[in-house]
Amino acid sequence: MTTKASVVVIGGGIAGLCAAYELSGGVDGPSPTTPRIELLDVAPVVGGSIGLTQFAGRTLDLGADGFLGRRPEAVGLAHDLGLDADLEPIAASGASIYLNGVIDTLPQGLVLGVPTTSSSLKSLKGLSRGARFQAWRDEHAPRPYVAGDDATIGEILRNKLGGALTYQLIEPMIGGIQAGRVDELSAKSVFPALLTAAQRKGSLLKHLRASGEAMPGPAALSTASRAVFYSLTGGVGSLVTALTDVLRERGVVVRTNTAVTALRRTPAARYPWEVDTATTATPADAVVLATPASVTAALAGAHHDALASLRTIQNVATAMITLQFAPDAVRLPAQGTGLLVPLGSTFGDDIFMTTAVTFLDRKWPHLRSPDDVLLRVHVGRSDDRRFTGFGDEALVARVLDELRALLGNVDAPRASLVQRWSEGLPQYRLGHSDVVSNASVAAATLGLVLAGNAYDGVGIPATIGSGRAAGRRALGILASASAHK
Ligand SMILES: Cc1cc2nc3c(=O)[nH]c(=O)nc-3n(C[C@H](O)[C@H](O)[C@H](O)COP(=O)(O)OP(=O)(O)OC[C@H]3O[C@@H](n4cnc5c(N)ncnc54)[C@H](O)[C@@H]3O)c2cc1C
Repeated sequence: MTTKASVVVIGGGIAGLCAAYELSGGVDGPSPTTPRIELLDVAPVVGGSIGLTQFAGRTLDLGADGFLGRRPEAVGLAHDLGLDADLEPIAASGASIYLNGVIDTLPQGLVLGVPTTSSSLKSLKGLSRGARFQAWRDEHAPRPYVAGDDATIGEILRNKLGGALTYQLIEPMIGGIQAGRVDELSAKSVFPALLTAAQRKGSLLKHLRASGEAMPGPAALSTASRAVFYSLTGGVGSLVTALTDVLRERGVVVRTNTAVTALRRTPAARYPWEVDTATTATPADAVVLATPASVTAALAGAHHDALASLRTIQNVATAMITLQFAPDAVRLPAQGTGLLVPLGSTFGDDIFMTTAVTFLDRKWPHLRSPDDVLLRVHVGRSDDRRFTGFGDEALVARVLDELRALLGNVDAPRASLVQRWSEGLPQYRLGHSDVVSNASVAAATLGLVLAGNAYDGVGIPATIGSGRAAGRRALGILASASAHK
């Protein structure tokens, strides 16, 4: 009697769901060789950092609310799930920055916050003269620093452009996306275009300009064949809903509220792995680990030192406070999708906890209403966990005070929602690529597959790509196991 192959996917964020999608046949759907697939998630719902809620009469993304259109993976998944018609391009572009008490519009042509011409900085009234001079100097008398195989983003920026430009203008963008500090993040893993530019002698600004990585300006919103950012009319979370529906239709066993507690090798048995929860032990030929790196290290670390090393990839806790205001209760900058607040900007005797404010209903048409304004305030980064000491009510009160300092008079909101992300975003520090490649090799030798945002990119497209590739790798493990029988 032949027994069916079995694969367990641990973690039902977008990466785990995508792995299960590929395992169950991808676009083509199941075939006679499709294995039994079980997906386990500790949370009450799948989706991880992507999910929907009801707020202010709308369906709103609780976490991630948009994805890059320049990469193919997220747009491609929407297509594969039949959601092409739901793709919604971002409806505004540009952003502002709070610089030394002044709100300035960010110039065009930035690459992750790094200017590509010094002249573009002229419009920034709040930027110090010293910072502007450093950009001019880079173009005319570049500093001699040349980067090696890797360096922190901060090391490169400080050595080429000086500290003022680094921390005032550039860190708010990169640090905002990664919830980390430029002095901790690996350029190789987070911002390879910067490393490549810094490995050449001469002007960093000019090399970055030549890289073609600069974000297009507002005109590109209407002229580009593919928008810069997308959501879906039902929110990014509708991708998770559609994926989960497909998986259930295909017979994938999806178990929520179920923590995986151990991963045991059973080489003498028919199936080489057993995946334990409090109540079950599921045998498996291959296991996809789509959990945060610390969880993956705890589950798989006993089987190989390189997998134990994944515990060094730490996640940063963040929170997002969504606020509904009456239309005239708050005055926003005339254009753009949000406001960045540089680290260390003073707020009375303290410093701001707010790292950014997103103008949600400017970004996404599906959230727009003439009756209100929706803002989302972001707090928390690798060296700022102050928000964890605030209860929800106190956190809302604090960010409202901060909004008043940023935007002037702001009336009380009609409604508020605090969403905390204890496993927010993984930090790719120096040495990240070695940790990842060693762990991936070790996993492959054991019949394990790693997936998720801890490895090759934190954005939704990269994470979808990682999940789908993991599903295909797990199918490869099954194919080679059956060839050796
Ligand atoms: C607040 C926030 C906003 C973001 N905004 C954007 C955005 O706008 N655009 C963008 O491109 N990216 C954004 N990102 C990044 C992107 O959303 C994430 O990187 C991506 O969704 C991560 O997917 P994942 O499957 O790798 O991990 P996760 O979504 O973290 O999923 C991991 C899953 O593992 C489960 N798990 C953990 N331990 C166990 C266990 N022991 N047993 C079983 N299951 C377990 C968890 O419950 C979770 O569901 C954002 C991230 C955050 C946190």
